[in-house]
Amino acid sequence: MGRLVMKFGGTSVANIERIQNVARHVKREVDAGHDVAVVVSAMSGKTNELVGWAQQTSALHDAREYDAIVASGEQVTSGLLAIALQALGIQARSWQGWQIPIETSDAHASARITGIDGSELIKRFKENKEVAVIAGFQGIHQDTGRITTLGRGGSDTSAVAIAAAIHADRCDIYTDVDGVYTTDPRVVPKARRLDKVAFEEMLEMASQGAKVLQVRSVELGLVHNVPVFVRSSFDKPEDIDPHGTPPGTLICSEEEIVESQVVTGIAFSKDEAQISVRHIQDKPGVAASIFGPLADANINVDMIVQNVSEDGRFTDLTFTVPAVDFTRAQDVIAKAKDKIGYERVDTATDVAKISAIGVGMRSHAGVAARAFAALSERNINIRAITTSEIKFSLLIDAAYTELAVRTLHTLYGLDAKT
Ligand code: ADP
Ligand code: ASP
Ligand code: MG
Repeated sequence: MGRLVMKFGGTSVANIERIQNVARHVKREVDAGHDVAVVVSAMSGKTNELVGWAQQTSALHDAREYDAIVASGEQVTSGLLAIALQALGIQARSWQGWQIPIETSDAHASARITGIDGSELIKRFKENKEVAVIAGFQGIHQDTGRITTLGRGGSDTSAVAIAAAIHADRCDIYTDVDGVYTTDPRVVPKARRLDKVAFEEMLEMASQGAKVLQVRSVELGLVHNVPVFVRSSFDKPEDIDPHGTPPGTLICSEEEIVESQVVTGIAFSKDEAQISVRHIQDKPGVAASIFGPLADANINVDMIVQNVSEDGRFTDLTFTVPAVDFTRAQDVIAKAKDKIGYERVDTATDVAKISAIGVGMRSHAGVAARAFAALSERNINIRAITTSEIKFSLLIDAAYTELAVRTLHTLYGLDAKT
């Protein structure tokens, strides 16, 4: 007997039939004797619809009201699943973020969880074997009493945080794929499912665009040492042995991985924008005059490339920002023009970032160099490069995204054997 968190994403709760299917998955684990807390997302498409409604009402809107609106999707599914479980004869109760409470910062629309009191849930496990059905994605900022949300994909983070708070043995993330693959299986049919991925690798894959897990959920799993298991909700609940090992991917510490490739996975993101500030003086303080105001505006700068000036006087500086912040970033740079002293700004939004990730890179040289050669053979131009200990990223024209991902996937020996 153990304690489990089971998280179901949008496609897994897309309609009543699927919610009933989820209820049967939960019943299987309850029948096996486990304490269960379930975390649910909104029905697929619902959050997008709610975000759209907020935007339509007013493009510039109050983030506190945005959160009040978008948190409602999860409220509906938590109630529906509680009913579906009760209909199967299981004691179940729904919980909104504020009811537990899941306390967060006041950074509306991208709040961080600051604390969860799991004692009431644990008490109910012990007294009544009651299943807790928790609305993912949302929390409350205690000082203001306002509802907050955790950023897109945030139900993953709710699930791992709850697993830590109730001392669960495992956090199962049920989704529409049966695990974490070497790259997005919807883009590369030859992608392979990985049995195990190290937390550090998953952190890089998620932050470089693999949306199968929200970045913060992986951070929390690492910090609190919660084993996270990614698996499919589409497997028939009745066919699964609750004591067996189902297909899926375990996110775990590096030591638990016996065999590792140099490159574990390829991630990509089209949500990037490139800004080049042309003809700036090559002297101390200029970079600070560009990146200082961007940081003050809370804009995350990712890749940075500065040309070495030929005459030692003037140079160009290129960097990338998330596509959602592109207009704001342009605005910040325009406002700081006098201080920076540039000639002009060039921009591109049709760019993509391709990243190769693997802990094996720590002990291998020349891994990225092979990618440069393979991409040049396909005439794919590289606009910018960044590297870190276990990852390198390349900025290219978005039109070549799929070709570049497939090229690197094959190059590093990740293709599934057919
Ligand atoms: P959920 O609604 O269950 O939270 P998401 O849509 O957020 O599901 O995440 C699952 C999706 O992530 C998959 O359908 C897949 O297209 C995408 N994905 C991207 N990269 C990967 C990867 N490396 N492995 C598995 N899935 C990936
Ligand atoms: N419903 C939210 C979203 O679509 C949270 C989640 O599904 O994880 O972003
Ligand atoms: Mg998700």
